[in-house]
Amino acid sequence: AKEQGRNQVQIFDAGMNLQTQIQIKKTTELRIALEQGQMELHYQPQFCLRDGSLVGVEALVRWNKPGIGLVYPGDFIPLAETTGIIVPMGKWVLKEACHQLSAWRQAGFNNIRMAVNLSARQLRQPSLASDIAGILQQQEMNADMLELEITESMLMEDMNTAITTMSELNQLGIHLAIDDFGTGYSSLAYLKNFPVRRLKIDKSFVQDLTADTEDTAIISAIINLAHNMGIAVIAEGIENEAQLEYLRQLNCDEGQGYFLARPMPAADMDKLLQESCPL
Ligand code: C2E
Ligand code: CA
Ligand code: CA
Ligand code: CA
Repeated sequence: AKEQGRNQVQIFDAGMNLQTQIQIKKTTELRIALEQGQMELHYQPQFCLRDGSLVGVEALVRWNKPGIGLVYPGDFIPLAETTGIIVPMGKWVLKEACHQLSAWRQAGFNNIRMAVNLSARQLRQPSLASDIAGILQQQEMNADMLELEITESMLMEDMNTAITTMSELNQLGIHLAIDDFGTGYSSLAYLKNFPVRRLKIDKSFVQDLTADTEDTAIISAIINLAHNMGIAVIAEGIENEAQLEYLRQLNCDEGQGYFLARPMPAADMDKLLQESCPL
């Protein structure tokens, strides 16, 4: 029994080492990926639900891993977040997204905005606002063309830091949107503490909108209260026409989802822009 116990300890240790080794290998891989330019952005269009016009795009990061293909953020953002790689990665995302928007604006598509996701770690960087101000200047881009998506849970985690940083960003003229709205524990009353331009209703509410009268009531309440506070509403995860119709009836301002358009590389977005806004 004693020997067995010893073996178990050895196996456990070996397992820990292996886990650690894998973690270190993945971290190194990710760092190199960023340095070697293996990250790319895809863009998912956002539409006005009243007139169907394309009003913006959300930048979504992908890792184009040699010999593997596209790796989605769910498979590397958590590691990037715990290791801190998200900070330089987030900076790259912001630069690339702003650079792309400038290119589209120069091509004549000057009414679309760029939405970029922020991570909790980025929001805690004291230099975030000045870093972004630098990027905007470099890209000769107006601050109000940039929208930063911050999840509801990030706000709740560290409210004081969030309020400070968000106020700085707001002073620059950048728009702020609350992502995944409805999944956290915040109430709409909290929102008066934050300089928020837009709420993004989480896709879990949109998904069973037609079947679930409770979700319909929740979304309806969110939209009405937001509008009363001067906050616009976008719904994500629209996958079928019925959901789109419901959201229209509920007076939702904007929508995003596979039914309308999937995230796509910049080159495909070029084509879509040319089709949807003939010059
Ligand atoms: P998110 O910000 O909630 O982004 C929306 C996700 O839903 C995207 O997944 C998008 O491809 C997907 N989606 C779009 N339309 C539909 C739909 O109709 N149905 C369904 N089921 N899904 C839809 P993706 O690209 O895999 O990104 C996952 C998450 O990774 C994002 O969730 C965001 O939290 C994070 N993320 C992506 N890019 C970045 C980034 O540059 N920085 C940071 N910090 N996080 C990022
Ligand atoms: Ca988002
Ligand atoms: Ca979301
Ligand atoms: Ca439900």
